[in-house]
Amino acid sequence: LLQLSVPLNFIGFVYREIRQGLTDIEQMFDLLEVEAEVVDKPDAQPLQIRQGALAFRDVHFSYDPERPILKGISFEVPAGKTVAIVGPSGAGKSTISRLLYRFYDVQAGAITIDGQDIRGVTQKSLRAVIGMVPQDTVLFNDTIAYNIRYGRPGATEDEVTAAAEVAQIGTFIESLPHGYDTMVGERGLKLSGGEKQRVAIARTILKAPPILILDEATSALDTTTEHEIQAALDVVSKNRTTLVIAHRLSTVINADEIIVLRDGGIAERGTHADLLAQDGLYASMWNRQREATQAEEQLRKVRESD
Ligand code: ATP
Repeated sequence: LLQLSVPLNFIGFVYREIRQGLTDIEQMFDLLEVEAEVVDKPDAQPLQIRQGALAFRDVHFSYDPERPILKGISFEVPAGKTVAIVGPSGAGKSTISRLLYRFYDVQAGAITIDGQDIRGVTQKSLRAVIGMVPQDTVLFNDTIAYNIRYGRPGATEDEVTAAAEVAQIGTFIESLPHGYDTMVGERGLKLSGGEKQRVAIARTILKAPPILILDEATSALDTTTEHEIQAALDVVSKNRTTLVIAHRLSTVINADEIIVLRDGGIAERGTHADLLAQDGLYASMWNRQREATQAEEQLRKVRESD
């Protein structure tokens, strides 16, 4: 109903925004559920957030009925804890974050927040409590301050700079000739993947959501940038219910629980130490990744000595 009542010229506006790459997916959904697969139930209630405990109960999901992606996934993220999802490429890790943000509804089972099935609550109230740091943040063609303040439009200048400091991007911004007034985005200063991710983290710090989804960048970042981003993420996820979608393993060592997905099911679960001791899929992924990192370091040293 909501979708039908939206004036066509507004859809045209949104479409142009998307084509110009100005709009990130979160804002697109905020604007008006265009293309939304899910619609609020007529009796949908606002989510009542208490501690922010999260649970997946026997969740089944497929984009295409012929090809199940998640075949009965159950796990919990207790309030304030961090759970990391790892697994081979295509295993369904990012799908889990999309289901939690309710871009799609589960086909069987349920996802609950503080005991409430997310299918029964309004999408607006659901998205208000979840902060998403996506793999690739699309910036608005506006100032860097605007892009950070988007996390909480009423934030003061001091709050914006404080968030940037915590996200480890403050020094970089201050080094720019126009500082926080620098135009960024397609028509402005192009930021690197790591810089964009830190802008997304600063936004999330301002939003201060009880639940966080970190969908870590797949692209390789240099070691320094990776450490800086990790430090920023550790600050935002502290005492917040956090789901980390990890495409690299270096970021999951401190998670309270690591879930290893394979072929739509949970192959292994436990802490980093538990999983290394099990000497299974996680341990072999870990060893392979460590070898790859060492090889890269070697290569870098050889190049530097040339
Ligand atoms: P990676 O580590 O490579 O990012 P992932 O574990 O996050 O992978 P997902 O993005 O969750 O994987 O995708 C799981 C599977 O679902 C993949 O095989 C993918 O091709 C498929 N898939 C993802 N999005 C869609 C979609 N919108 N429509 C159809 N299939 C999709």
